[in-house]
Amino acid sequence: MIESTNQRIAGGLPDRSRGIYCNRTLNLNAVRAIGYDMDYTLIHYRMNSWEECAYGYIKERLQLDGWPVDELAFDPGLVIRGLIIDTELGNVVKANRFGYVKRAFHGTQPLDFETQRRIYQRILVDLNSSRWAFLNTLFSISEACLYMQLVDLLDKGRLPGCMGYGDLYRLVRRRVDETHMEGRLKAEIIADPERFVDLDENVPLTLLDQKEAGKKVLLITNSEWDYAVPMLSYSFDRFLPGCSTWRDLFDIAIIGARKPDFFSHPMPAFEVVTEDGLLREHRGRLKSGHVYIGGNAGLVEESLGLKGEELLYVGDHIFVDVNVSKSILRWRTALIVRELEDEIASLEAFEEKQAELSRMMNRKEQIEAACAGLRLELQRMKRDYGPKGSLDVPELEQAMAKMHNHIQELDERIAPLARLAGTLVNPNWGPLMRTGIDKSHLARQIERYADIYTGRVSNFLYVTPFAFLRSSRGSLPHDSGQILR
Ligand code: IMP
Ligand code: MG
Repeated sequence: MIESTNQRIAGGLPDRSRGIYCNRTLNLNAVRAIGYDMDYTLIHYRMNSWEECAYGYIKERLQLDGWPVDELAFDPGLVIRGLIIDTELGNVVKANRFGYVKRAFHGTQPLDFETQRRIYQRILVDLNSSRWAFLNTLFSISEACLYMQLVDLLDKGRLPGCMGYGDLYRLVRRRVDETHMEGRLKAEIIADPERFVDLDENVPLTLLDQKEAGKKVLLITNSEWDYAVPMLSYSFDRFLPGCSTWRDLFDIAIIGARKPDFFSHPMPAFEVVTEDGLLREHRGRLKSGHVYIGGNAGLVEESLGLKGEELLYVGDHIFVDVNVSKSILRWRTALIVRELEDEIASLEAFEEKQAELSRMMNRKEQIEAACAGLRLELQRMKRDYGPKGSLDVPELEQAMAKMHNHIQELDERIAPLARLAGTLVNPNWGPLMRTGIDKSHLARQIERYADIYTGRVSNFLYVTPFAFLRSSRGSLPHDSGQILR
């Protein structure tokens, strides 16, 4: 099976949705070790099913707290990754790259433009402040959805105890943590992986290619042994030749890594010595072919004799996987943005309309500029200063009125298209990576911390382990030659 896939892919160019996108030039040939995160990275979950299941267990915990949540149901479209919870006001917002809030919901209801402007006109999103909680990963979708629904209940006075939006957020967070750590959610997933995992036969082939090309291939996951083993076996063993298993894909496998502390604290490592997960304290370097629990990034570097830029880490969590590993260790970083395939497909389907929208906006800008010129001419004429033009006052006023009409006509055609562009990908929030014509806050985070990003690990197959991934020449406002006049 692997051979036939290889033949199919060799030399074939991927479509845009399967591309690898580059923020900072990365020579894969110079990368000596590649570490992979597991959940939502090596293993693709069907987000709706996984998060619905998690949501159910979190809800159960709230029911035990005596909360009136029976009627609530998971709504996967209510939020997208990259949104930000304003825990002070019970809002969820989408911000642009500068932190300006561009769209907001209070609870499950959108805020109208005026209210949103009034609330946020002097407030910028600052992810360093505990007021804001960034939705870093698809695991955040169930949590944010539930929080929004609970804000509605809090506003109606239906939640017990006196609490603010911040307390509510911290309580939901605690229940989410407990749900992930307690066994039942994971047991349900292990029992019926077909429901939750979207298999990708090319992932193990991608890793084999990299390993055979001389790179050390590592697994570094926060998941625990009891969950990681059945999920990795289910996802990969079937696609591997002979009797090899997922363990043969990795030079070193680290389970229960406790990222982000893994990247910054010298935590001890334990070696897994039996299949049922018996542990032995480990001292010294990590050995090839072995599986460990815990440990830390410094120990990985020391064991491999590699440092910083020689290692690439591939993960889906914007803070834990790419921000921390880049900021602290200067590892090269790749972010898996599973949503990218849908995002690119819907932007492609909108391309013709987008071109029409851009044409009309250009036309509007030209007319606005000409109109501003006439207005200044009129002002000078009326106040009797500066150079005079060829038109008299009534002619100027007539020409300006005509231009205003033209702008109004254009606006009537622009508005529905602009509204449509703002509902692409998700009707509530629009595309992940854009807010209007600007980059979204998510796009800015990705640009800062991920050297490259792509929709799935198997996209590395197309570029081979030897590729030189070059970033494009970044564009600046003055590049287009368009001047404001
Ligand atoms: P990784 O992405 O492979 O590092 O593993 C993610 C692990 O963290 C999974 O086992 C998740 O169940 C778990 N996880 C995800 N979100 C949370 C959370 O909010 N609290 C505690 N554990 C989480
Ligand atoms: Mg992950």
